[in-house]
Amino acid sequence: MKIAIIGGGASGLACAIECGRKAEREKKNVSITVYESADRVGKKILVTGNGRCNMMNENELPYFGGGDFTRFALEKYNVESNLSFFASMGLYTRSDSEGRVYPLSNQASGVLDALRFECERLGVEFLCSQTVTGIKKADNGFDVFGRKYDKVVFACGGKAGVKGYQSYDLIKNLGHSIITPSPALTKINVKDSKYVKQLKGIRHKGDLTLYIDGKKRAAESGEVQFTDYGLSGICVMQLTSYITREKSKDIKITFDTVPDFSYGEFEAALERIKGNLACENLLTGFMPKKLGTVILKNCGIALNDKSASLSHGQIKSIVSAAKKLTFEVESLRSFEDAQVTAGGADTRQFSSKTMESKKLRGLYCIGEMLDVDGFCGGYNLMWAWSSGRLCGDSLI
Ligand SMILES: Cc1cc2nc3c(=O)[nH]c(=O)nc-3n(C[C@H](O)[C@H](O)[C@H](O)COP(=O)(O)OP(=O)(O)OC[C@H]3O[C@@H](n4cnc5c(N)ncnc54)[C@H](O)[C@@H]3O)c2cc1C
Repeated sequence: MKIAIIGGGASGLACAIECGRKAEREKKNVSITVYESADRVGKKILVTGNGRCNMMNENELPYFGGGDFTRFALEKYNVESNLSFFASMGLYTRSDSEGRVYPLSNQASGVLDALRFECERLGVEFLCSQTVTGIKKADNGFDVFGRKYDKVVFACGGKAGVKGYQSYDLIKNLGHSIITPSPALTKINVKDSKYVKQLKGIRHKGDLTLYIDGKKRAAESGEVQFTDYGLSGICVMQLTSYITREKSKDIKITFDTVPDFSYGEFEAALERIKGNLACENLLTGFMPKKLGTVILKNCGIALNDKSASLSHGQIKSIVSAAKKLTFEVESLRSFEDAQVTAGGADTRQFSSKTMESKKLRGLYCIGEMLDVDGFCGGYNLMWAWSSGRLCGDSLI
């Protein structure tokens, strides 16, 4: 049997290994060819987790996109199974307090090497610098660059972090629908960035709440990074997975800059410390000075006045602003800034048990190319490994 995998990324390599190993175990004559646009396979793996590769996560979180579609693959090829998969290639891992799994070497290149060497051992053929631009349906199979294959696996990833991505057309031309792609796990442009501009470069930990049409939609905690256009940081990026699917224009994020204090506790603390201190220094014990200044200005407080002169009403308004600093979302940043694509090949047209198309036998799709996206923390690579392995096992 001849199999073509289009895309030598995380899912394509996992698929090739699972399939190659099964063929080896069952002594089946199978040839596997991986077509890759780049000059080498797995380049994106190298940039994941800031070069450390956050390979998966010990915790379970729901995925966006195809509803329950991910369940079978993620249960069959769960964290334990994927850890053994990598250990069987000599790659060991450690996890942090948030359940994020990293290679012991802390180097993404180690993950790619393990996958690459195992593919080589199994005789997987890599055809690099070859962008597949069209696949024809042939009798009992598919034609790729004039070569005949019995089965073809689409593992082309998505638009996140990629320039000039065209690969959805490949699968569209074979009768599949694409759910409009949009960037997820990205940064946020905020409206009226007047005070955001003043915060550029500041990082501060706190609690974020996302409101859509005035209703609470999600909450995240962590470090917010302010940029000249808006907000960044992992907790901000997590919220973009909800925002990217929203049609509403009424999207707000509130930032509790003092999550360790209740409204009452914070009010009491400010009443206690006000006195000789200039107003501009009132919040410096709680947050970076610039952030405090923006909050005070927002409340119309004269920065040079003595804080002793602040009325109870003014203290209350400072407390409200610090507990609920509000940003109106203008838009999400582009695919270039995104870590994953929301949207892609419609999962309703594929079997969740095999990853095979329900429309065209012998056609498979895996990884980010499908309409599946997860949170930061290793969930997207987890989906790539698990969907890739499930497909690899189903191919033969
Ligand atoms: C900066 C960044 C950091 C990230 N960090 C993490 C992280 O730490 N943890 C995590 O879980 N996820 C992370 N992700 C997301 C994760 O990398 C992807 O979800 C995952 O790589 C998807 O795997 P895939 O195999 O579906 O696609 P990819 O890994 O993108 O692989 C697709 C491959 O197909 C090739 N290709 C595409 N079209 C064609 C064609 N027509 N012909 C031939 N080849 C083609 C591409 O060149 C590519 O090599 C990060 C993403 C980015 C951008």
